[in-house]
Amino acid sequence: MRSLPRSALALILAILLALSACCAAAEGEVLARGASGEAVEELQVRLMELGYLSGKLDGQFGTLTEEALLAFQAEAGLEETGIADAETLEALMAPDAPEAPEELRAGSGEMVWIPRTGHRYHSNKDCSGMKQPSYVTIEEAVRQGFTPCKKCYS
Ligand SMILES: [Zn+2]
Repeated sequence: MRSLPRSALALILAILLALSACCAAAEGEVLARGASGEAVEELQVRLMELGYLSGKLDGQFGTLTEEALLAFQAEAGLEETGIADAETLEALMAPDAPEAPEELRAGSGEMVWIPRTGHRYHSNKDCSGMKQPSYVTIEEAVRQGFTPCKKCYS
């Protein structure tokens, strides 16, 4: 069997790496159902801040995230695709992005940190030495029985 010279292999490898880097970056700009990761978390935080989404920040683009995004797109006058493309993300991250109207409001938009153990929610992530706290809407924290931390909410 004839093998390729080492330099040709290196070149092919370089091309493959360049291609995968390019496509990973492009994928990062369009988020749709089934996506997950940090980009989805950022999307969820913003949807929560604006009142379209409530519950737990989980980094999973599921039905609830899709519904929240559809509502935002309708409110922002964008095409209602349920897909966070570059145009949607730009509108969403804009300082003047439209907040959810009262009748759609999933929550107040207030976000809090809850610890893995304990029953207080916090405005400060570093309060009380919490380890890997979850970032949730205040409504979700209350639903789970959490009450305000006296240090964070005095
Ligand atoms: Zn606290």
